Amino acid sequence: MLMIKLSDFTSVPYSKLITNIIKKYEPKIVLFGATAMGRDLAPRVASALKCGLTADCTELKIGDYKFKKKNYKNILMQIRPAFGGNIIATIVSPETSPSMATVREGVMKKQIKNPQCKSEIIHEENSLSESDYLTSIIESIEKEKTVDLKSANIIVSAGMGASAPAALNLVKKLAKKLGAKVGSSRPVADLGLLNRERQVGQTGITVRPNLYIACGISGQIQHCAGMGEANRIIAINSDPEAPIFKIAHYGIVGTVEDVITKMLKAI
Ligand SMILES: Cc1cc2nc3c(=O)[nH]c(=O)nc-3n(C[C@H](O)[C@H](O)[C@H](O)COP(=O)(O)OP(=O)(O)OC[C@H]3O[C@@H](n4cnc5c(N)ncnc54)[C@H](O)[C@@H]3O)c2cc1C
Repeated sequence: MLMIKLSDFTSVPYSKLITNIIKKYEPKIVLFGATAMGRDLAPRVASALKCGLTADCTELKIGDYKFKKKNYKNILMQIRPAFGGNIIATIVSPETSPSMATVREGVMKKQIKNPQCKSEIIHEENSLSESDYLTSIIESIEKEKTVDLKSANIIVSAGMGASAPAALNLVKKLAKKLGAKVGSSRPVADLGLLNRERQVGQTGITVRPNLYIACGISGQIQHCAGMGEANRIIAINSDPEAPIFKIAHYGIVGTVEDVITKMLKAI
């Protein structure tokens, strides 16, 4: 009966169970995916355990840390952009245990499993009682995804330099010709010119396509946080000083209108 109740995610029972398991095994590090579920669960568990939590880390490392003549060995360095992406902060919580962090999907490169790293699945009994279930799910309706940028091999993204109707049309045409998905910068999504699900970046999604074509995108750190790991980046921008050229493998200085028209002809 209780097992069935855990088949749907509900905040209170899940956080209580995970808190109990952490208390039992006392791990040094606990990581959550920054999914809707993870973002709900991690702060509840951190609060119950009175330990630190860093959300949306872009890098994790194990290292040593020195503070006020105290040396902390092998602790979790939780690295993420802070202050609107203007600095990259390394956050540590050496005095409390465990160190907890969330990581957004796609932010870190998938690694090949090291066979020397052994892991074990431990099955735990459900220790909750009826009174722990404060809510129950009556019905769940799955929201239909209109676009899945994460699995796209090629993404052609429009920034404010491609936001005029004719330019945006050219971006869409180029994407269609290349069998690519259309992405966007945040201001383009803010204006409703492209669907929010297409927004790439710190507050959008993180993508790793084989090819990313940035059209009229300046290349601010918040956008690059979502596409900087693409295999190949082509940038089209009329400003030769645009920061996007610093991370692009190929840079084309020119207007979106001119360059894409020529690309379409050439294809
Ligand atoms: C907390 C926070 C989170 C954020 N999260 C995100 C995020 O997730 N994603 C994101 O994208 N942004 C995000 N931003 C916004 C970000 O800082 C930038 O403002 C945004 O990325 C700029 O978008 P853009 O490059 O399209 O526009 P602009 O910065 O206005 O750049 C337009 C570019 O187009 C070029 N251009 C103009 N006309 C043409 C033309 N005809 N042909 C070719 N080039 C042309 C210009 O030279 C310029 O480089 C965030 C900001 C904050 C503070």
